[in-house]
Amino acid sequence: MKTAIISDIHANLEALQAVMDDIGSQSVDEIVCLGDVVGYGANPNECVAIVNKQCPVTILGNHDAAALGNLSTEHFNIHAKVAIEWTAEHLNTQATTFLEGLPLAKNDGNRTYVHATPYEPKMWYYITSLEEAAFNFQFFSTQFCFVGHTHIPIIIVLDKDKELYVHQEESVAFGELDNARFLINVGSVGQPRDHNPAACYGIVDSEKQVFAYRRVTYDIKKAQSKMKKIRMPEFLVLRLEEGR
Ligand code: ZN
Repeated sequence: MKTAIISDIHANLEALQAVMDDIGSQSVDEIVCLGDVVGYGANPNECVAIVNKQCPVTILGNHDAAALGNLSTEHFNIHAKVAIEWTAEHLNTQATTFLEGLPLAKNDGNRTYVHATPYEPKMWYYITSLEEAAFNFQFFSTQFCFVGHTHIPIIIVLDKDKELYVHQEESVAFGELDNARFLINVGSVGQPRDHNPAACYGIVDSEKQVFAYRRVTYDIKKAQSKMKKIRMPEFLVLRLEEGR
């Protein structure tokens, strides 16, 4: 069984289509989406329609909640606020209905899926240190917790001796690590921030017992020109090509 896990699409249709094409070439059985389908990019409705059709499990992100008016943008930076206001004005009824129905977290077998953190998902905290990761391991009991939110792919391992560390490769053969647990950020499809502008997502292969990232190039210029047309802040347009 192969599961593709995507997150933080942020209305970037070019990135999402490229990732869906790549997933199509990987004999994947199911696709899970960890939220932030909208916000920043020019195609929120198109992206929601694809996710609605392709991802039977989709989790709510903070930008999705804000676009619905269910989360105040007071803690958002000015660029994100502008993007959310535009998105809220342009979401169609189907997209709104789909996003309204999304859960904050979901358990599936040995996996927990959540957008931000397993601790109080509704607070939209960030995991940016090993201390914060260690704290969050207390709040899920499954072998894996998959998250998005920071847009930075990272595999954090809690091994059988309760040692916590960052796995340094782009894939992990988890079957070889007895009794280890994993907190994995799958990165961002539509706005990567790890200085690699290629769209990022992950695949879990439960037979081979491997999790691996995939990076997919896409037509960044096209996504940018659409954002310029709707007058998204220049910072948001430029960060796509810089991957930051
Ligand atoms: Zn996001």
